[in-house]
Amino acid sequence: MRIAICPGSFDPVTIGHLDIIERASELFDKVIVLVMTNSSKNHMFTAEERVSLIKRCIKNQNVEVDCYAGLLVDYAKEHNAVALIKGLRAVTDFDYEFQLSLINKSLYPKIETLFLCAKGENMFLSSSMVKEVCSLGGDISAFVPKEIAEDIYLRCKGDC
Ligand code: ADP
Repeated sequence: MRIAICPGSFDPVTIGHLDIIERASELFDKVIVLVMTNSSKNHMFTAEERVSLIKRCIKNQNVEVDCYAGLLVDYAKEHNAVALIKGLRAVTDFDYEFQLSLINKSLYPKIETLFLCAKGENMFLSSSMVKEVCSLGGDISAFVPKEIAEDIYLRCKGDC
């Protein structure tokens, strides 16, 4: 079985992330969406909340969602994953992602990093942009899955 991991913060998951996850699920037998909890970012949603938001949006049978606070390659080894899937929005994403892929390869030579190009209409889309628009009272319905839009509105308003 060919297993791939889609790692990220997903704070919150956007339609840009979902596009990459769905395309990865066509290419691999199993995809694990991995909510990484070791970044220093100030998150809007806890790791457990991000996992549950993603689960509500995923329809594909071969996609699982998990979270992890350790080293990505250790998780990949433990779960027999052969690839890390990353979405590339623009050249600006590439420099950092290329460095990460080299570090991961040197830590675990068996792992490959595959880059999927973002859809043109998702090129400008990031979780931070969604949070910014929402906190200023803008309409985020075109940017996030409909299943979770309300949760983001409520969190932005500070209601839950
Ligand atoms: P963000 O930059 O939105 O905070 P994450 O850290 O959650 O993203 O990113 C997880 C993965 O999803 C990364 O590989 C990132 O490049 C990719 N990604 C994020 N937004 C998009 C998008 N709009 N289209 C395609 N891929 C994306």
